[in-house]
Amino acid sequence: MRYFPFTAIVEQGRLKQALLLNAVNPAVGGVLIMGPSGTGKSTAVRGLAELLPEIDVVADCAFSCDPADPCDACRARPEALPVARRRRRIVDLPLNATEDRVAGSVDVARALTEGVRALEPGLLAEANRGILYVDEINLLADHLVDSMLDAAATGIVRVEREAVSVVEPARFLLVAATNPCPCGGGPPGSCDCDDGARLRYLRRLSGPLLDRFDLRVGVARPGVDDLLQSGGGESTAAAAARVQAARTAAIEARGVLNSEIPASHLDILAPLEPAARLMLRTELERERLTGRGYHRIRRVARTIADLSGDPSAPVGEQDVAMALQLRVRMRVSVREQVA
Ligand SMILES: [Zn+2]
Ligand SMILES: [Zn+2]
Repeated sequence: MRYFPFTAIVEQGRLKQALLLNAVNPAVGGVLIMGPSGTGKSTAVRGLAELLPEIDVVADCAFSCDPADPCDACRARPEALPVARRRRRIVDLPLNATEDRVAGSVDVARALTEGVRALEPGLLAEANRGILYVDEINLLADHLVDSMLDAAATGIVRVEREAVSVVEPARFLLVAATNPCPCGGGPPGSCDCDDGARLRYLRRLSGPLLDRFDLRVGVARPGVDDLLQSGGGESTAAAAARVQAARTAAIEARGVLNSEIPASHLDILAPLEPAARLMLRTELERERLTGRGYHRIRRVARTIADLSGDPSAPVGEQDVAMALQLRVRMRVSVREQVA
């Protein structure tokens, strides 16, 4: 696997912010990236892997489990577990993958005689503790979307075949991408897709699938790959240090990751400045935000405030504005495209 410097995406401000937020707090809700083909969306995912701290893993475990808290299969091993330190894995979920490949499969006959080791792990479990990347997620078959969203919400995959039921860990950071239209959107002037085709292509990006992503960003030209040449900006090391500082500060200030703050404790652990509260009230009144979205936005805004440097200060208007922008923007742009 080749990794790209985070500097490559420095010019794509919103995308960079969304990726940083996920690096600080992976449960912040996944990133959906929309942009024409050739704008380097997958490069951005490699950039995210650069930002995340390396992890200790059981070297030969399919789930990259933590030696300090091994998975069931590793716990059952008689020998000392081989430990390695490495970057988080990026697992691509291809559109043509079978259900068995995605969710995993069980050899029933062997499972009944030999136990869980007859499990063939799927891509969701292989992404455990890493990044799951789904390009053109709007074309992914419904049953695969369901499996993926289930795993993203629960952190596990349950494989059930006949009398056998196996649970695999699948706690991953979800990054998905989509093109603006079926031809990929290519270089300016190259697209002649009609409105009907574009609408059919984007329709799947509505409802529960879109709602799953707290952060939705568009990338435009010049693409990430062009920017690779331009240099400058914040180095990967500097960005990674900022991410690490924000993670530590959040835990020190509140004892939990922002994504774990219960709704009932938000006012205590992530208080809002009056102007920030007013801004959210307006969004609720205009029905641009659901009750559930309201709580999620507050956790994202808290993470934005942590990342800008002051975990003890209340969440300000600017933090909320940025969180709203990151969440709402894609919905608006999809509506515009299909309108
Ligand atoms: Zn393991
Ligand atoms: Zn097109």
